[in-house]
Amino acid sequence: MNDFSLPKRVDVAVIGGGPVGGLAACALAQSGVSVALIEAADPAELGRPGTDGRAIAVALSAQRVFDGAGVWPLMAPEAQPILEIRVTDGASPLFLHYDHAALGEAPFGWIVENTTIRRAVHQRLAALPAAHVAAPARAAAVERGPGGATITLADGRTLRAALVVGADGRASFVRKSAAIGVNRLGYGQSGIVTTVAHQQPHRGIAHERFLPSGPFAILPMTGNRSSIVWTERLHLADAIVGQDDAGFLAELETRFGDFLGPIALAGPRFHYPLTLQVAERAVCRRLALIGDAAHGMHPVAGQGMNMGIRDVAALAEAVVDAARLGLDVGGPDVLAGYQRWRRFDNLLMLGLTDALVRLFSNDVGPLRLARDLGLAAVERMPGLKKTFMRHAMGVVGDLPRMMRGEVL
Ligand SMILES: Cc1cc2nc3c(=O)[nH]c(=O)nc-3n(C[C@H](O)[C@H](O)[C@H](O)COP(=O)(O)OP(=O)(O)OC[C@H]3O[C@@H](n4cnc5c(N)ncnc54)[C@H](O)[C@@H]3O)c2cc1C
Repeated sequence: MNDFSLPKRVDVAVIGGGPVGGLAACALAQSGVSVALIEAADPAELGRPGTDGRAIAVALSAQRVFDGAGVWPLMAPEAQPILEIRVTDGASPLFLHYDHAALGEAPFGWIVENTTIRRAVHQRLAALPAAHVAAPARAAAVERGPGGATITLADGRTLRAALVVGADGRASFVRKSAAIGVNRLGYGQSGIVTTVAHQQPHRGIAHERFLPSGPFAILPMTGNRSSIVWTERLHLADAIVGQDDAGFLAELETRFGDFLGPIALAGPRFHYPLTLQVAERAVCRRLALIGDAAHGMHPVAGQGMNMGIRDVAALAEAVVDAARLGLDVGGPDVLAGYQRWRRFDNLLMLGLTDALVRLFSNDVGPLRLARDLGLAAVERMPGLKKTFMRHAMGVVGDLPRMMRGEVL
């Protein structure tokens, strides 16, 4: 347990110290807002390599938020730039090819292991005097009233805050404590993740292949390594992951191919059931939800955490602006502003991601032909291609200051 005493009162209590909650606490504390971060797990365990198979595609705009909060320098040595993206549909020769050079110098984004991100945010928090971290410590009760909120931890400690931020993931306790419902939709799919080493360099190219069972992504990591996100039917995933290494590798090779030379397993394998879910509201009195606590999506477009980081940038801006004006940081104006900024954008991304999964996770002949013609058409329309590229970088729309690379 971190050896510290919780202050009796803070401006903001963030519950959940995953990548999104941890980053929110960094952004606020760096701007002088007093923050308590309550995380159920031991941060050393959260950041231990091999405890989570996910590698995250961090879009350019999200990278700016990590940078603005002082976290990026701690993860940059382990971040692989994405320079090109190739999209193919099964065995069809038609494909889309995106090259970052068409838009300028900046890469589309970076691939970073989830454990690296968690380690980096907790390292940064330890250096911020306005941040108080309780971990491992579980939030057990949240009571909200007109003048503020009281959070009670499972070990009996209590603290008061003007604003409670629920960043405690898909099964959010904070969301439930406020009786906010959630709409959920299963895909009958699981995301198998692992890391492979290969003989040839990947040259920063990410591959997205649409196979009948679902999308199969090969994401470049530092060194001659790639992260795999292999979408498979839910009822098959357990058996595939549970095979011995030789059996698993043989199945993987049929999907991966030999374009990077021989491959070898270079990390443990995990699988995550894939669902779409969205909270009925992202705010209520003295409370805001961010990240997976507010919305969860299929990883096909690599946008789940990126959307959570947009939440962070928007909420941090609303809170810090209010604090500078001497206003109540958990007041209705701050919360309404946050909800207005993020709600439509999150719903739009959830809808687009869902449509992508449904369109591509099947092998129906006429649909396959239509989408292949669609891919070929986009490939021939440079204007539309550039728009898609800007979306992948996350640099479109009404962006908060941190996402534009400006000081909070
Ligand atoms: C296979 C796969 C691939 C993905 N790839 C990408 C990608 O390429 N790009 C992308 O943007 N997104 C991707 N995502 C989505 C991304 O992983 C999630 O959106 C992101 O990890 C959510 O982070 P979070 O901090 O909101 O939640 P979490 O990481 O779930 O963190 C929640 C934290 O809250 C803590 N907690 C829970 N309850 C309590 C409590 N009562 N008290 C205190 N603490 C509590 C937990 O211990 C945990 O640390 C992927 C997801 C999957 C499944």
